[in-house]
Amino acid sequence: MKNMGLSRLVLVDPLDFPSGDAVARASGATDVLEAAQVVGTLEEALVGCSLVLGTSARDRRIPWPLLDPRECGVAACEQSMQGGEVALVFGREYAGLTNEELQRCQFHVHIPSDPEFSSLNLAAAVQVLAYEVRMAWLAAQNKPTKTAKLETTAILNAQPVTADELESFYAHLEQALVEIGFLDPAKPRHLMSRLRRLYGRSGISKLEMNILRGILTETVKAARGEHHKQGETDV
Ligand code: SAH
Repeated sequence: MKNMGLSRLVLVDPLDFPSGDAVARASGATDVLEAAQVVGTLEEALVGCSLVLGTSARDRRIPWPLLDPRECGVAACEQSMQGGEVALVFGREYAGLTNEELQRCQFHVHIPSDPEFSSLNLAAAVQVLAYEVRMAWLAAQNKPTKTAKLETTAILNAQPVTADELESFYAHLEQALVEIGFLDPAKPRHLMSRLRRLYGRSGISKLEMNILRGILTETVKAARGEHHKQGETDV
């Protein structure tokens, strides 16, 4: 929960709480556990909630409005941004939620697991839904979901090559291929246009272009029997 930015845990009639095991497994997120509210019944837990989403590993006999985890994330997020309180209800590790408990929920959420083996561990199911809530929340806030920041040099290196740079690369490539005997200028076939298609598809960056040009230069030198100094290339 804490990983995904959720903090309000309500435990209904817990078997073991406070629990040494739970503290150990929380690996540092003990504030969530310490702040957990303990109640006797699901009814008490749901007081004040305007959207109640119940999770289940099984298809129930009674048809019920069903959401997938992604829709659940969006619905939970929308409701909470409108000021409503949302409950995601999870069941017991071994027995899940009873039909009666599930009927207290406006929507059911099922993680579309393999029907032959549909039940996730409780913690794994919580994580899937908490993650979907987080993704929906990040999207609603226009926050990025990719946090890697490119360094300036990395940005420069990732810059795509321009058409003119590509043209001079193709000229270099053709000259090198002739020189090493791979391309016969008398019988070029479609080699260069095929290579253009190949390189054109790969979205080459400026840095990668420099690597390719370096390889061509060294290939030609090697073909001419010219000596290559170790460490000459800096890529
Ligand atoms: N035998 C129980 C399994 C409980 S698994 C049953 O069939 O209901 C423990 C809890 O994890 C479930 O109550 C539910 O809250 C959640 N869970 C497990 N698998 C799930 C799935 N595929 N979709 C939604 N929730 C799931």
